Amino acid sequence: MLKVNALMIKSVDYAENDKILSLFSLEQGVISAKIRGVKKAGAKLKFAAEPFCFAEYVLTEGNLKSVTGASLNDSFYPLRENLFRYYAAGVAAEFVKKFCPENLPHAPLFLKTVRLLKELSYGTAPACGALLWYLLSALGEIGYSLTLGGCAACGEDLPRRVFFDFASGCAYCENCRREGDTEISAATYALLCAAKMQGEEPPSGEECAALGYAENIYLRALALLGRYLRTVAGGEVKSLKEFLRLYEF
Ligand SMILES: [Zn+2]
Repeated sequence: MLKVNALMIKSVDYAENDKILSLFSLEQGVISAKIRGVKKAGAKLKFAAEPFCFAEYVLTEGNLKSVTGASLNDSFYPLRENLFRYYAAGVAAEFVKKFCPENLPHAPLFLKTVRLLKELSYGTAPACGALLWYLLSALGEIGYSLTLGGCAACGEDLPRRVFFDFASGCAYCENCRREGDTEISAATYALLCAAKMQGEEPPSGEECAALGYAENIYLRALALLGRYLRTVAGGEVKSLKEFLRLYEF
């Protein structure tokens, strides 16, 4: 018997009433486990197969694990009451599922994912602000940190024109730019720098407001991170595209 503290990040139907869960655990990273009978009405463990369920899961050991029990820590229920927040949480879940190999513990990223879900559920930060903080620090956790804070070649500040290299995650000034670099807006760059300074905790609504960036700058910064992930990690985070599309309506 194995006990792990985990977030339910993905479920796939299996057989008539079962599901296969992807659990992001503090102790063992991402693990797959079967859970029986949860599609039946009144199933005792139904909650444990819900998106973003944070629980202590009891599993059988071995190659194909099964969930035999779970005690709820937090269902992050308020996510379900706001489409933007729900989708932002979905981006984090897809990020973990896509970029964290199974059975490899990733405690710092686990803790940041929990903090994101807490902020999105109970905090005041706008969904795009909390998500930008998360993705910037999550990129660092999987080894693709952006190099921000001045031109990567000459070290000069980047006040006006900024050229970004999507292959390396570095920014350059007008003089040091290389062929193939993409010009990005100075405001997008400044927001990325500010969000990266945020550290271990997501920003509060007040902190986001104090930074004073318009929503569309957040969306540009997030789109840039999506393109960067596609370039360096070869993976499209589909739910990030869907999240950004929500703002078009
Ligand atoms: Zn330079």
